[in-house]
Amino acid sequence: MHEIERTERVTVVGAGLVGSLLSMYLARRGFQVDVLERRPDMRRESIGAGRSINLAISTRGLHALRQVGLEEEALRHAIPMRGRMIHPVSGALAFQAYGKDESQHINSLSRAWLNAFLMTNAEGTGRVRIGFKQRVQHLDVETGSLTVLDEPSDTTREVRTPVVFGTDGSGSAVRHEVERLPGHATTQEHLGHGYKELTIPAGPGGAFRMEKHALHIWPRGSYMLIALPNEDGSFTCTLFLPFQGPVSFESLDSPSRVVAFFQEQFPDALPLIPDLVHDFFHHPTGTMVTVKSAPWNVGGKTLLLGDAAHAIVPFFGQGMNCGFEDCVVLDACLGRHTLWAEAFEEFFRLRKTNADAIADMAVENFVEMRDKTADPRFLLEKAVEKA
Ligand code: FAD
Repeated sequence: MHEIERTERVTVVGAGLVGSLLSMYLARRGFQVDVLERRPDMRRESIGAGRSINLAISTRGLHALRQVGLEEEALRHAIPMRGRMIHPVSGALAFQAYGKDESQHINSLSRAWLNAFLMTNAEGTGRVRIGFKQRVQHLDVETGSLTVLDEPSDTTREVRTPVVFGTDGSGSAVRHEVERLPGHATTQEHLGHGYKELTIPAGPGGAFRMEKHALHIWPRGSYMLIALPNEDGSFTCTLFLPFQGPVSFESLDSPSRVVAFFQEQFPDALPLIPDLVHDFFHHPTGTMVTVKSAPWNVGGKTLLLGDAAHAIVPFFGQGMNCGFEDCVVLDACLGRHTLWAEAFEEFFRLRKTNADAIADMAVENFVEMRDKTADPRFLLEKAVEKA
């Protein structure tokens, strides 16, 4: 009995980056895929980009796109970042290359563009149907029955499905059901830092006002500013700051304090961010969490992937990349097994150690980025590595 081959329809909860890519992989295996997404369709209605305006895609993410024929087109919209550009409070900028030659780089890509691109290509398979404004409220993991709120009509309906994939992000509704079962556990560690997005607009004629091919970092000990380039010549900056303390979101409570803080700490960035005060007080302050859960599957009925299974803090630039790699590994497991439960168990075994390792490295990299990149000893180590 080949249970996996006999299954016709499956359900994916969440059409974010991982859910959209996963749908393509599942469609390629011949399944009809129903995707339930709580947000409106970002290709038709203007909605915020979500967790960050742009993000870095690296080798493991590109590999996952290559398998479904999307790498080339994605790279056409990406800006290669060949190293870190360190901005000290005073003195010269320092460039730390990521590798020995220019082929070793990461890429800055618009999150909204990538998400829309993945959804369009998933639907283009003819096997994926994405329902928008469909919020999953409850899942009965035993029966595979989902309670879904249709937001436009404010009515709920039941959806029966043999297999549910939970790709609904770090606050996953699917995971909340899974973690209530005996033998399942989840830990969530919130960082004492939050983040705020700010914009460096393009110069005249779409010119980049700083080095285009770099990830810019202003490391300042307990806080830092970073900036990634966008296709239109602008940069999206992210300010990471403690929520509370002497220098924090709490202490920067007036326009004059914010401007004085930037004047003192980020003097070269300040003139490049004309809407600093508006953005600082109007943009939401993001939170960051590490989620570790186990196991990710309930038999062969439900499986968590992406941030729903293993959300990590953004300092290693690997959350999405890791979620994309989940899709590649799951696809291989589906090819090796006849039963869903066996495929899911192997997937969990193969991915859990890696996901935990990346989560820990991401927290460590926060310390490196905000602190050690400014340390002369660290710069010396990098110089020796390159020599
Ligand atoms: P999400 O992107 O969160 O998508 C989940 C989807 O599920 C959403 O569309 C949501 O609307 C939907 N949903 C949620 N609940 C429900 C529900 N109940 N019913 C139906 N739908 C639901 N990663 C990188 O690889 N590189 C980077 O440079 C990078 N930078 C980052 C910067 C910041 C500031 C942050 C916060 C994160 C960054 N990440 C980065 C991490 C990356 O954003 C995540 O790992 C990635 O978005 C995970 O994708 P996902 O599809 O699992 O979850």
